[in-house]
Amino acid sequence: MSFGKFLVASNGGVSVYAAKCGHIDTNVGFIENVERSEAVLIDASFGSFAASKKILSHGTKVIAVFFTHGHWDHIGDGHIFRNLGATTHAHGKDRAFIERPQLMAMFAGIEDELVPCGIDVDVEDGDEVSVGGWLRVSCRWVPGHAAGDLVFYLEDLGCAFTGDTLFAGCIGRTDLPGGDEQLLIDGIKRKILTLPNDITVIPGHGRHTTVGYEKANNEFFA
Ligand SMILES: [Zn+2]
Ligand SMILES: [Zn+2]
Repeated sequence: MSFGKFLVASNGGVSVYAAKCGHIDTNVGFIENVERSEAVLIDASFGSFAASKKILSHGTKVIAVFFTHGHWDHIGDGHIFRNLGATTHAHGKDRAFIERPQLMAMFAGIEDELVPCGIDVDVEDGDEVSVGGWLRVSCRWVPGHAAGDLVFYLEDLGCAFTGDTLFAGCIGRTDLPGGDEQLLIDGIKRKILTLPNDITVIPGHGRHTTVGYEKANNEFFA
């Protein structure tokens, strides 16, 4: 398992880490409140449970998982966290992929068994979710890579997790079910590139970037 812990942001006792987990280096977000011994995950790829043991403080409990979308490379360990008490959040349009991952397994080409993970909360575009009384997650629906792509903006921490919608210098593939390039580009323009320029963007794969850098340099938008 590749593994690299990277501190994205820190504010008011809350720290955001990103680490590459699983077969194709999915970036998983680990948001920890050390004082409360609580954490929230953005995506839960294969390997993210093992990574959580190294990244989070001893005794910290993962209370929620937010899925950017239902593709196999973002969900593999979700059931582990849910069985330990985490509340799971996803867009309704990708709920089926997470609850019945065999629907997506044909695109995966991996041997690991994909274990279903129930979804507790259907997230809608524009939802502001408060978790544990210490984290505000602004949820934006940006479909076009999958049907249920969500972007999670953490305003208090100055960062956004964009899943497989916007990458550094690129956008997500649009040749899978639910894919639509023009829809994706329009959504990124309206719901991600309208964030402040200095917001750190953590994509689902690859290096991090900023909103301002992508506006100026990403060939899909510049
Ligand atoms: Zn994907
Ligand atoms: Zn992915």
